Amino acid sequence: MDDKLLEELKKNIKGDVLTDNQTLTFYSHDASLFEVKPKVVVFPKDEEGVTALVKFVSKNKKNNPDLSLTARSAGTDMSGGCLNDSIIVVFDKYFNQTPKIYDNIATTQPGVYYKDFEKETLQHNLIFPSYPASREICAMGGIISNNAGGEKSLHYGKTERYVKRIKVVLADGNICELKPLVKAELEKKMGLTSFEGEIYRKMYKLIIDNYSKILSAKPDVSKNSAGYFLWNVYDKEKETFDLTQLFVGSQGTLGFILEADIALVPIRKHREMMIIFLHDLAHLNTIIREALILGPESFEAYDDNTLKLALRFFPEFAKLLGSKGIIQTGVSFLPEFLMVVFGGMPKLILQVDFTGDNLDALTQKIKKLKEKLKPLHPKIRIAIENQGKKYWAIRRESFNLLRQKIRNKHTAPFIDDFVVKPEYLSIVLPQVTNIIKKHKGFIFTIAGHVGDGNFHIIPLVDIANSKVRKSIPIIAKQVYDLIHEYHGSTTGEHNDGLIRTPYLKQMYGEKMISLFEQTKKIFDPDNIFNPRKKVGGDLAFALSHIRENW
Ligand SMILES: Cc1cc2nc3c(=O)[nH]c(=O)nc-3n(C[C@H](O)[C@H](O)[C@H](O)COP(=O)(O)OP(=O)(O)OC[C@H]3O[C@@H](n4cnc5c(N)ncnc54)[C@H](O)[C@@H]3O)c2cc1C
Repeated sequence: MDDKLLEELKKNIKGDVLTDNQTLTFYSHDASLFEVKPKVVVFPKDEEGVTALVKFVSKNKKNNPDLSLTARSAGTDMSGGCLNDSIIVVFDKYFNQTPKIYDNIATTQPGVYYKDFEKETLQHNLIFPSYPASREICAMGGIISNNAGGEKSLHYGKTERYVKRIKVVLADGNICELKPLVKAELEKKMGLTSFEGEIYRKMYKLIIDNYSKILSAKPDVSKNSAGYFLWNVYDKEKETFDLTQLFVGSQGTLGFILEADIALVPIRKHREMMIIFLHDLAHLNTIIREALILGPESFEAYDDNTLKLALRFFPEFAKLLGSKGIIQTGVSFLPEFLMVVFGGMPKLILQVDFTGDNLDALTQKIKKLKEKLKPLHPKIRIAIENQGKKYWAIRRESFNLLRQKIRNKHTAPFIDDFVVKPEYLSIVLPQVTNIIKKHKGFIFTIAGHVGDGNFHIIPLVDIANSKVRKSIPIIAKQVYDLIHEYHGSTTGEHNDGLIRTPYLKQMYGEKMISLFEQTKKIFDPDNIFNPRKKVGGDLAFALSHIRENW
């Protein structure tokens, strides 16, 4: 950005405008494998600061086609969603007021960290059940914009189900509120002469004209963050029209979120978990079928490499488990150590977690599952209430530890979030791992939400090795071809970003891609919000921005 424009930006914007090298380097990274250096990083102080910023870019875009705005809340995106080469707009510094809770709804700003959000909701015995595994490090703006999901999504669904109203800044720099509208309200909006009115008119027409195509394009899996969720906008039976559903999961490509109303659910009193140490993958389908019938709140899994990691970094895991101390934690893991020593390393560790307010009902479910699985002779443990904490620590923290701990190797998320129907897992999972094993230099861990058929495979690589860099698009293509063959989604939670937007055409086909492009054009005619994400994907740009070092 030239000096004159930068001066104008600084003069017009209420907020911090930084261009020093340290800041630019920090905001060149998120939790993905990419590095994209911004020109400027802005921390708007309030809503006026954000609207002025959007107006500034709209006004100057014609003479400066490279100008754009990319939102960032906590920057834990794994797809490169919050990285770009123009202006990064950071929300966690000033948009972080304590959420207000009223009637099972929390009103939050985008920069509020989930851990702080939850502190407030817990005081009301309520929780937002779609929190991601990155719950300690991410914020609400990214949760909404990625349509984040997590360990409880099997029972409660994903973020899309909980966003009830959002306040956004549109491409014309004006603020508007989005919520589900009934017919009369929609007609009123469509009658507006403003940019907002134009959006309603055009989006209504787009959806009505292509309604059956849109409904049939909805991925037939229980979790999806790929594309724009056009199928969620218009409910023909209830006659409601809800544009919040387009912003959810849109990775800041349609506008900026300033505030959101998020629905909460009561916390369940009790939990009882069965941990299954699976040695034979051939049993996976039966276990999935029998467990899902009983309606667990979550059904998670991790592999032998993840377990080895937990053993290798045992002191760190002990720390995560709180005040118990290493020796006591060691003692609590003793049965698992002995099981591995005498029975061998299991291929997968499965956690079937039942929760509810009636303890007896939970015990009955565990008993029933034990009975059903008896013919398979599985090795199991039962964890009541807090006894399950140690297993959850391994499941939740393994990726974070990998990111921080392995010297000379780096986590390279690029096939990190596919989804297929759970009944296909026993076929798809070994095929995916076989694809990776054919390439030298890739070791990997597998963890995921087995009940949803959503798996996170995170390779650990020496990213400076040119062979490794060349293998990344080859593996990605083969894996996504396979996922396509099984009618899955390329991403259940982590979203498209730089890494997966180029694969959307394969997943949705030409016609839906054209509807996504038209949607983007309606909201963002000059392409000022987060270019190259969701539409206009550019694999060559992504590959040329893989980090050289960490
Ligand atoms: C260890 C680890 C575990 C993870 N586990 C999960 C998981 O279980 N489930 C899951 O869903 N994800 C997971 N993630 C990915 C990520 O943490 C989540 O998706 C999280 O919700 C992103 O939040 P954030 O605040 O960090 O978002 P950011 O990284 O800041 O942004 C994410 C996207 O949202 C957009 N955005 C941010 N703020 C706004 C705004 N105000 N207006 C418009 N757009 C905005 C950004 O442009 C970007 O495209 C994990 C990441 C890590 C590092």
